[in-house]
Amino acid sequence: MKNIVVLGSTGSIGKNTLEVVRNLKDKFRVVGLSSNSQWELLAEQVEEFNPGYVALNDCQHVEKLKHRFQNNQLKILTGNNCLKEIVLHREVDIVVSAVVGAVGLPAAIATIEQGKTLALANKESLVMAGHIVMPLAKKDQILPVDSEHSAIFQSLHSGKSCEVKRVIITASGGPFYDFPADKLTDVKPAQALKHPTWQMGQKITIDSATLMNKALEIIEAKWLFDLKVEQIDVVIHPQSIIHSLVEFCDGSVIAQMGMPDMKVPIQYALTYPERSPLSGRSFNLSDIGSLTFKKPDMEKFPALRLGYLAAREGGTTGATLNAANEVAVQAFLNGRIRFTDIAAYVEKVIQNHHFIKNPCLEEVLAADGWARQEIKKCLM
Ligand code: MG
Repeated sequence: MKNIVVLGSTGSIGKNTLEVVRNLKDKFRVVGLSSNSQWELLAEQVEEFNPGYVALNDCQHVEKLKHRFQNNQLKILTGNNCLKEIVLHREVDIVVSAVVGAVGLPAAIATIEQGKTLALANKESLVMAGHIVMPLAKKDQILPVDSEHSAIFQSLHSGKSCEVKRVIITASGGPFYDFPADKLTDVKPAQALKHPTWQMGQKITIDSATLMNKALEIIEAKWLFDLKVEQIDVVIHPQSIIHSLVEFCDGSVIAQMGMPDMKVPIQYALTYPERSPLSGRSFNLSDIGSLTFKKPDMEKFPALRLGYLAAREGGTTGATLNAANEVAVQAFLNGRIRFTDIAAYVEKVIQNHHFIKNPCLEEVLAADGWARQEIKKCLM
């Protein structure tokens, strides 16, 4: 029996994680949950899984949660350090980090330092501070939950790391890969939120539409698998059936395929190195019919170019890109900027930022804070 903590349990990955756990009750026990603000769903999850600890970031609703569980042993945490506090508990074996954004970084570092397994969906931890996080981790201590990285991780088992020629990350292309470039400026949030193949939260769905999600995944792959930027390719694959591929030095290309269902990579991260049965839509190639591929258009989707830039530069560029993008996406969702402004503003902030080649954690967090302030100036 393994004890798990799900950070961001009320989001899309969090809910899928709990569904996996629900089906593997003999293998996993939930000991901690966290949510940003969805206290009612969190309360339902507490009633079902009976964890010892929960964290609710939004202190407005903490009293309601306390009132509801006043006769319970449940420990309710809030405040800046609450995620970190949960993962530090001794009985925790696996931390699923499914929070959105930079807030996941301190908890990721704490998880690794405590020698616990980190099932990582929060790619921002590596985008911001891969150079700090990865050297702390032992082999297979960080297990990817991101579907592309899970695919690469699984494909890599076909050879040795020195035999890897390159990885090919697939991208659905989002709702606009066929959209005329000159019409992208007029795209409304409701259009961008309609993802063709994956059901996800708002932030990542907009990131998928701008291809910023792929940009973040390039940086994530570089750190997770110790790759050179030249070894990372991206291909548009609208059906989301091939989740990513690895090309080895002898020309063999190994792909991991399956119906788009986040429970597959989540469960693999939890049960690794074993596999467990999982029901879902059946995989039938003749029903799928055809798989298509296309080169991504970096002019139309400049975010992808910024991802390569940040992966190549390293240092504080990843944290700057990520923070500026978080603010820009929120501004787009609030109707304050246009769709095409997201990448344009992020690029401007990257260009203006004070680059540090090998930043310590404080400098990474300072770059993050600076980028948030800087992009807010552009929005005024
Ligand atoms: Mg992904």
